[in-house]
Amino acid sequence: MNVRAYRELNLKKGASEAEIKAAFRKLAKEHHPDTGRGGADDVAKFRSAYKAYRELLRETKINGQKEFFGAAKVSAPVSPTPFRYDGERKHGLDVYVELSLVRPYGSEFEIILPFTSHEACPRCLGQGQTLGRLNFESQIYRPQTCPKCQGQGAIGEIKYLTVKVTEQMAQRGKFRLRGAGGYLPSQAKRGDLIVSLRFVDTLPVGN
Ligand SMILES: [Zn+2]
Repeated sequence: MNVRAYRELNLKKGASEAEIKAAFRKLAKEHHPDTGRGGADDVAKFRSAYKAYRELLRETKINGQKEFFGAAKVSAPVSPTPFRYDGERKHGLDVYVELSLVRPYGSEFEIILPFTSHEACPRCLGQGQTLGRLNFESQIYRPQTCPKCQGQGAIGEIKYLTVKVTEQMAQRGKFRLRGAGGYLPSQAKRGDLIVSLRFVDTLPVGN
């Protein structure tokens, strides 16, 4: 959450893409070097507003893909049962996600869930470090942070999982997908993805 950027554009956090654009247009009109009073303050204000605008648009697009994944976005498969992504928290390697959805008719239904698949980094093989340069004096290769995974030892990639939600899973409102959570490369350990379902009457439509 880019608090500074929201403040910069006088927006409440969670503002929509349309609101972000409108807020920037308003500030741009006031401070644009060509139309504003043209002082140094105006130029600085215009520049920082523009920077905030770019950052928020990017952030909104990323979150939008997450939130309204179920209602389709490019390249993500359309979930047969749309849902809204309400939040995510981590506990150790386990990842807990909350979804809102309208209960479809029938005893079972399918949803397509995005999850981050973590694989050991092929460059450092999960060590998080690569061999650095040889120190000629000590004749020792000093390990360095792996540039490919930034020392995490794992590469994350968004993948999609089709889940058949049975009557029982829906009743319980919660289910666990083994191994679809976080990944600890040093121990090759995988956490679970625990999904909570909240049934609602209607889903708000994304913009
Ligand atoms: Zn690596």
